[in-house]
Amino acid sequence: MKLKRSHYGGSLTEDLVGQTVTACGWAQTRRDMGGVIFIDLRDRTGLLQVVFDRRDLSAAEFAVAEHLKNESVLAVQGPICIRDPETYNPKLPTGTIELRATRLELLSTADTLPFFIEQAGSVREDLRLRYRYLDLRRPQLQHNLRFRHQLQRATENYLDAHGFWQVETPILTKSTPEGARDYLVPSRVHPGDFYALPQSPQLFKQLLMVGGLDRYYQVARCFRDEDLRADRQPEFTQVDMELSFVDQEDILAHLEDLFKTVVQEVTGIRVESPFPHLTWQQAMDLYGSDKPDLRFGLPITDITAIAAQCRFSVFRRVCDGGGVVRAICVPGGDAFTRTQIDRLTTIARRCGAGGMAWLSLRPDGQVCSILTKYLTAEEIAAITAATGAQNGDFILFCADDLATVRRTLGTLRLAVADMLGLRRPGEYRFLLVTDFPQFEYSAEEKRWVSTHHPFTMPCEQDLPYLQSDPGRVRAQAYDVVLNGVELGSGSMRIHRPDIQRQMFAALGFTQQQIEQRFGFFIEAFRYGAPPHGGFAFGLDRLAMLLLGAASLRDVIAFPKSKDAACPLTGAPGRVDAAQLAALHLEGGRPTAGGAQPPAAPAVDVDAVAALAMLELTPAEREKTAADLHAMLDFTGQLAAIDTAGVEPTAHVLPLQNVFRPDVPSPGDFHDQLLAMAPTTYKNYIRLPDRDEKGGAKA
Ligand code: ASP
Repeated sequence: MKLKRSHYGGSLTEDLVGQTVTACGWAQTRRDMGGVIFIDLRDRTGLLQVVFDRRDLSAAEFAVAEHLKNESVLAVQGPICIRDPETYNPKLPTGTIELRATRLELLSTADTLPFFIEQAGSVREDLRLRYRYLDLRRPQLQHNLRFRHQLQRATENYLDAHGFWQVETPILTKSTPEGARDYLVPSRVHPGDFYALPQSPQLFKQLLMVGGLDRYYQVARCFRDEDLRADRQPEFTQVDMELSFVDQEDILAHLEDLFKTVVQEVTGIRVESPFPHLTWQQAMDLYGSDKPDLRFGLPITDITAIAAQCRFSVFRRVCDGGGVVRAICVPGGDAFTRTQIDRLTTIARRCGAGGMAWLSLRPDGQVCSILTKYLTAEEIAAITAATGAQNGDFILFCADDLATVRRTLGTLRLAVADMLGLRRPGEYRFLLVTDFPQFEYSAEEKRWVSTHHPFTMPCEQDLPYLQSDPGRVRAQAYDVVLNGVELGSGSMRIHRPDIQRQMFAALGFTQQQIEQRFGFFIEAFRYGAPPHGGFAFGLDRLAMLLLGAASLRDVIAFPKSKDAACPLTGAPGRVDAAQLAALHLEGGRPTAGGAQPPAAPAVDVDAVAALAMLELTPAEREKTAADLHAMLDFTGQLAAIDTAGVEPTAHVLPLQNVFRPDVPSPGDFHDQLLAMAPTTYKNYIRLPDRDEKGGAKA
């Protein structure tokens, strides 16, 4: 009879001693003691030691145990026994018990793996992502995914309990301007037209409010084609929500309650509330960032008024030019070493500042700084008073234009906190930031762009400046920040068609573009739209922060690599010409009678390795295969280029620097050359003989 699991092996306890159980899982390790074989059986709850004693099993079953390969999948049955006390394993929750197998069924044999599961944590990430299903067997990743599931469930429970309904919105849709590039999907039915994958469900959730749904949420997949960093993925999951007949305060109260409840539920840690609340202006001035980490202080102090009067030319010049001088006092920072100060200076330079002036107050009150040459004792006293510095503290300064000073001091503040170990893991400091500027000026696009998105309602009193002075318009927008990371953003929305049109106009859209792209949306507001607002936060990101994980990839089952590829499936991949043709895309050639174009030749890595006399490890074999495929792909791409009627070019580089006409010289110009020679002999130039020049020869 086939064995059927009765218990998860990794979660068995001494309570079951004496009972016969059936456990299933992977054979993580095998130790053959001759006649007795031990394996660690792994399932998603942990490890269980299983003992195969020749005397307890049939000869056939014992033979299977003898030849078991690591990571093979088995079902075992037998009584749970207390281990011999000398073999207790205090590292395992099941460390005092073992299953003494009386039956064994091999469910699947494993080949030799590309890496050991127990050591996968230190294996190159690209290899782990290529074999993600093996990587997922690691307890750490299973823990992360379980945690993420609990986080999502807790969030959904909260939202459900507060009257939010989950509603799905389309994936194939029109572009939503969230500031990133769209992923486009060509339409087969509408030649030349494209769907965009949603950067967020923004338009639809607002339309749900117009539709009277009142409170909506969705665990929504969003797609943004941007350059990736550690905390970005091209597709990610947002908890998206929208509410009608509320104001900003109502939404912020909900968010505070939601985060507090959920974080407490999944981590057991009490989150302090009410959350601190800063306006964007305050956050930028006090911490040099719109997402300050509030696990520590180190605020920024403006000392422009003092610096403007002093003899230090660097400070004076900046103040005269309309810049600012600001400082951070680091309590106890007098202990900084020269190397640490140099490191901070380098960081300041990288942020675009000219350098970093500093002043150290020795424990005995002596001031140590180059600034003592230029600043009077009163000026130094004024600075220490303004920054609240005490003996033993360190003050660092930045003098430049406002944006550079904010950026530099914001970054230095974090660097100092890292040096002093002030960003404590396991401590959660939330912050609400409000009153963001409605627009930012994009020097690249030479126009104002939305700081949040174009559906955000400006502060009522700033509405008159939408066209005349966009820089001073504040938005009814807010962010929730956790430990210096932006968890999510939201805003009150425009629900009047006239204001929405003005907003698009302020962003530089023509009437025609507004109609074409957002006509349907603005039209909806003409038929009775409730005042509404909402918010969205990154579920992956919150999970990452609460777990203290280093990357979003650690909380996503099948993440993309840094170059937006999926090493497991090979996506994005090439498609055949017939598919392109069906989508009316260039490069597609309809195949006669539906015949498939020839497939790319398969790479025989072993043959290549044999020819090159190389012995490849599984990892090298993998890499070589990938490289060879990439080369073949590239030659395929080259071959696919339509070169009919293309002028051959002689130069790869542009020709601006070539002054001669780019025509080959005639092959034979002897005559011209010889014509210029003083004397010739046949077809050669004849050089004057010393004799002929006279003198040398007598
Ligand atoms: N759609 C916005 C975003 O994805 C969030 C919101 O305003 O609700 O950032």
